[in-house]
Amino acid sequence: MEHRAFSGIDLPEESKQVLALARQFAEERLRPTAAERDANEEVFDTEIHAELGALGFLGMRVPEEYDGLGLDLLTYLYVLEELAWGDAGVAVSVSVHNSLPVSILLRRGSEAQKQAWLPKMARGEALAAFSLSEAGAGTDAAALRTQATRDGADWILNGEKMWVTNGAAADLVFTFARTDSPEDRKGSRGIGAFLVPKGTDGFSAGKKERKMGQRGSETVALSLDNVRLDADRLIGDADRGFSYALEALEGGRLGIAAQALGIASAAIDEAMNYARTREQFGRPVGTFQGMEFKLGDMIARLEASRGLLERAAAAHSVGDPRARRLSSVAKLFASETAMFVTREAVQALGGYGYSREYPVERLFRDAKVTEIYEGANEIHRSLIARQFYREKGGDT
Ligand SMILES: Cc1cc2nc3c(=O)[nH]c(=O)nc-3n(C[C@H](O)[C@H](O)[C@H](O)COP(=O)(O)OP(=O)(O)OC[C@H]3O[C@@H](n4cnc5c(N)ncnc54)[C@H](O)[C@@H]3O)c2cc1C
Repeated sequence: MEHRAFSGIDLPEESKQVLALARQFAEERLRPTAAERDANEEVFDTEIHAELGALGFLGMRVPEEYDGLGLDLLTYLYVLEELAWGDAGVAVSVSVHNSLPVSILLRRGSEAQKQAWLPKMARGEALAAFSLSEAGAGTDAAALRTQATRDGADWILNGEKMWVTNGAAADLVFTFARTDSPEDRKGSRGIGAFLVPKGTDGFSAGKKERKMGQRGSETVALSLDNVRLDADRLIGDADRGFSYALEALEGGRLGIAAQALGIASAAIDEAMNYARTREQFGRPVGTFQGMEFKLGDMIARLEASRGLLERAAAAHSVGDPRARRLSSVAKLFASETAMFVTREAVQALGGYGYSREYPVERLFRDAKVTEIYEGANEIHRSLIARQFYREKGGDT
């Protein structure tokens, strides 16, 4: 079975097998049940997540020595695209787990932390979440207020977090809190990253957001009320947590771009199938030039987005200094493509595009948040401009 993307790169046999498996899983397990997860947004589908874990999709970037699949970045992104084609809500849960917590632990965790958590995370026995945002700290994430205070060798955490994907289901939440003192705030250099396991006293999940789309993923608020953590729950340096978050988000953005591609690709398949069979004026509507132009634009933008994602992934893989800017470009363009394509797909199906009987209205709703999370597109536009200037030798 061919995977949807074409990279021009001859992928290793193992990657091809994983991609074929992802495609099969998306077609047989995710797509047929996506509408159900969308309708039952109160329920987190633990069965699907157990299956994802058993197949290795929760340990895609984890090296084999820690029980992961040890996939290269590009193959990982193609898998995310396949999963998002099946159900974007499930794909974001997988993307967050792999791109953020796993990558932080791999880069910044101690060997003891890696041994304790990575194999469980890779096998799907420990789902992870990433908790940076708060009510008053979104785009300006360094303004977070959750406080971590030392008590002997321990840390005590207090605060309220928001918008945590996988938040209530997660066995382990990577939580960001201030380690500077209220009297001496140090901005982004006064934040630590902590491992908070589910069931820790004082740590609880609160309100579940009722969302426009991606309802198969859960997004919750978290509360920390005198949560006591051993010293070994701190990742890396106590004042460097924010830089670890940014480092992970740079790669996370590629996961969101891949997710956006999966949504767009699903919408194109739906529009194409409909246009080929729906007849008006005695012929399929897809044979009218006006409709061909629409489908052609959708496909061209999808392929352009994929090319950008592949370019950004290549830059990451070789450590090119432009990787950061290219991640933002890929995320920006792919998310706007997902919005454009899903809007056009709704139009291509006419009245049925607006009906829940067909999946395009869900895809349209699912696409929107790709323009918002892991950096809203406005901030990516600024980052791209600033980073480009820096690459040219400027200093801002
Ligand atoms: C479904 C969902 C899942 C999420 N999952 C997670 C998660 O797992 N973990 C986590 O930590 N967070 C998560 N988030 C939070 C997400 O990252 C934030 O919503 C996002 O960073 C934007 O922050 P905000 O919502 O506070 O918007 P705000 O920062 O309040 O922005 C409001 C508007 O102002 C614009 N704006 C802000 N600053 C600027 C600027 N400097 N220049 C131009 N425009 C600007 C924004 O682009 C936006 O249009 C999730 C959010 C959603 C919706």
